[in-house]
Amino acid sequence: MKRKTGQDRSVTQKWRPATRAIRGGTARSEWGETSEALFLTSGYSYDRAGDAAARFAGEQAGMTYSRLQNPTVEMLEERIALLEGAEACRTMATGMAAMTAALLCQLQTGDHVVAGRAAFGSCRWLTDTLLPRFGIATTIIDARDPQQFVDAVRPETKLFFFETPANPTMDVVDLRAVCAIARERGIRTVVDNAFATPALQRPLDLGADITAYSATKMMDGQGRVLAGAVCGSAQFINEELLAFTRNTGPTLAPFNAWVVLKGLETLDLRIRRQSESALIVAKFLEQRVATVNYPGLPSHPQHALAMSQMDAAGPIFSLEVAGGREQAHALLDALELIDISNNIGDSRSLMTHPASTTHAGVSAEVREQMGVREGLLRLNVGLEDVDDLLDDLAQALDRAGL
Ligand SMILES: *Cc1c(COP(=O)(O)O)cnc(C)c1O
Repeated sequence: MKRKTGQDRSVTQKWRPATRAIRGGTARSEWGETSEALFLTSGYSYDRAGDAAARFAGEQAGMTYSRLQNPTVEMLEERIALLEGAEACRTMATGMAAMTAALLCQLQTGDHVVAGRAAFGSCRWLTDTLLPRFGIATTIIDARDPQQFVDAVRPETKLFFFETPANPTMDVVDLRAVCAIARERGIRTVVDNAFATPALQRPLDLGADITAYSATKMMDGQGRVLAGAVCGSAQFINEELLAFTRNTGPTLAPFNAWVVLKGLETLDLRIRRQSESALIVAKFLEQRVATVNYPGLPSHPQHALAMSQMDAAGPIFSLEVAGGREQAHALLDALELIDISNNIGDSRSLMTHPASTTHAGVSAEVREQMGVREGLLRLNVGLEDVDDLLDDLAQALDRAGL
């Protein structure tokens, strides 16, 4: 298949992941630049009026307007598609734009969605508030148990929507089992794969139909820009999703696309190092606090499942202190190196108290059901020397009385 980027899929698909992350999607301009060019342009010009007409009619290759196409953005889309092993990818302005578009482009009044209860706060707003407003029913289940998907299915069920590992409780969903349940019933699966990224977990290989990303997290990886992406079949992306996004406009800015292109070049290195450090930090914390929820730990109830579908457990996990919000805040306030920040996927180590930040918009009752309790903290383990992180956590735990 000849790509618009000038690369040939029959060649690029033979590349191993690290090569795809560096070279996938690159389309050089007439100047032969080594790094991808940043095309800051909203429009495109045509040699003749007939060319404009032909491009708008889809009869001539080329770009018409940057809400629809942009060379830098297309390079990123091709790179992510290659990493994901997807036929196609469409990027979005943010992760939430990606989630919203992935759902709304294929749902209509009367449809039913089954969604995992442990989820990013805004994803829960989509399933609990936005979709029902348009007559799309949702059933929220404990996605750790595949049987709950089976039990929730109705004749009008169109989608399963979940994340794994889930933010911030680190619940793991059995991708093979749940995607098989969906396929048997003609239901599509949309997997929010932000925590793992294609560097650690490729849901499409395990039977998922669609993956959706906050590229703000590990893909940029350095806390600079917001971005999102949706991957799936060419039919889904180019016909269903594109019709929705080209007319509603959650387009990724070319500059942000360029930043994520650079981020992807080091994704594999970063996520493996951060996963190694996260395991060391999680083992240390396990000795000091009530609970550590990290699928990479042998003590995690879903460790074996997580390791059967992920190459490593990633940089993010949560922990619970016995003293509720007061002690959780005290631990945060005692940190000297690790920042108090609700972002994740950054090269810096960051810690937040979900109940009072990322999940503050979710009702206390729903937080309790999700396992987002008052003593829960979420940690993103960065690229600093892991011994400095251990030193900081040790002194902060002492000062917080843990
Ligand atoms: C951050 C995040 C989102 C939202 O992404 P934005 O880029 O912040 O819009 C969605 N899902 C998960 C799992 C996330 O961590």
